[in-house]
Amino acid sequence: MTVREQVGDLLNGLGVDRWGFADLSSERGALNSEYGTVWDNYPRAVSLLMRLPLAVCEEMQQAGVPTSSYMYYYDVLNARLNDAAMRLSAFLEDCGWRAYPIPASQRMGDDKLAAIFSHRLAARLAGLGWIGKSCCLINPDFGPRHRLVTVLTDAPFSCDEPIKQNCGTCRLCADQCPAGAILGEDFNNNQPLKNRFNGPACDRFLKMARNSIGKRFCGRCIVACPVNNKTKQEQKLIFYLEKAPAEQILPYSLTAGLKSLQKKAQIRLWEDQIPEEGLPDDALFFAVPPALAAAAEATLESANVPYRIIGRLF
Ligand code: SF4
Ligand code: SF4
Repeated sequence: MTVREQVGDLLNGLGVDRWGFADLSSERGALNSEYGTVWDNYPRAVSLLMRLPLAVCEEMQQAGVPTSSYMYYYDVLNARLNDAAMRLSAFLEDCGWRAYPIPASQRMGDDKLAAIFSHRLAARLAGLGWIGKSCCLINPDFGPRHRLVTVLTDAPFSCDEPIKQNCGTCRLCADQCPAGAILGEDFNNNQPLKNRFNGPACDRFLKMARNSIGKRFCGRCIVACPVNNKTKQEQKLIFYLEKAPAEQILPYSLTAGLKSLQKKAQIRLWEDQIPEEGLPDDALFFAVPPALAAAAEATLESANVPYRIIGRLF
């Protein structure tokens, strides 16, 4: 069994929803300038993610303010992640490697929002998601509705690759931020955070929240994000029909055309499924709920229609 497989078995048993393996070397300069050389002995990281319940996020969106359930589960997740990170660290140490569990939620001081290490950076490098306009880590399956923890290590595992940013033209988080802290810009590794995020404005709002509800809490940028914020039954898989005649049966035709829909964040395309030459203007698509995907595939195959499933509509 490889180290990755052993780690995966352990984390699966601990109820961790997603995990990934990060090579930190490409960001070493940025890490050293932000945190000093204290982490130089840790060339890699394991990033762990646990989801917040979708229904609890919906409840908070409807309420428009942090609900007691949301705040409660936020703390529960941090505690569970810290426990998982400590167990993973013990496992790696028992194997003879260094391991440092970075606490799931810990600020460096009253005047700084950041923790002692960037969980988001590790998660991005580990391929768990992209950095959204909200500066949150956006996971394709759980959006920003999750918590993260990081275990730094020198264990010799192969690492994952970052995934592509996919906010598109969406800016819901910026529109709904009560502090105007999210500037609506895409993440760019070469530009400073202040180009995208007004940290002091967010911090001032959180201080106001502490005065009124007793906790530094907001979370509106998390519940506003549309990425995969529907239950599985409401999603639809998009089929692309190759060389299909126009009269082909289309159970759910996308009448507006996929090209215009692509501009919205509610469409996620799996680019490796799109033909190299791109999608022709007269291409045919239809979408079905995942539960009907197998039946749709069987219908297309029996009609001898070449097809690909190229994305998700949600
Ligand atoms: S936590 Fe609240 S104030 Fe801070 S960026 Fe998100 S929505 Fe804005
Ligand atoms: S709300 Fe929209 S812009 Fe903001 S992080 Fe989510 S997808 Fe990106």
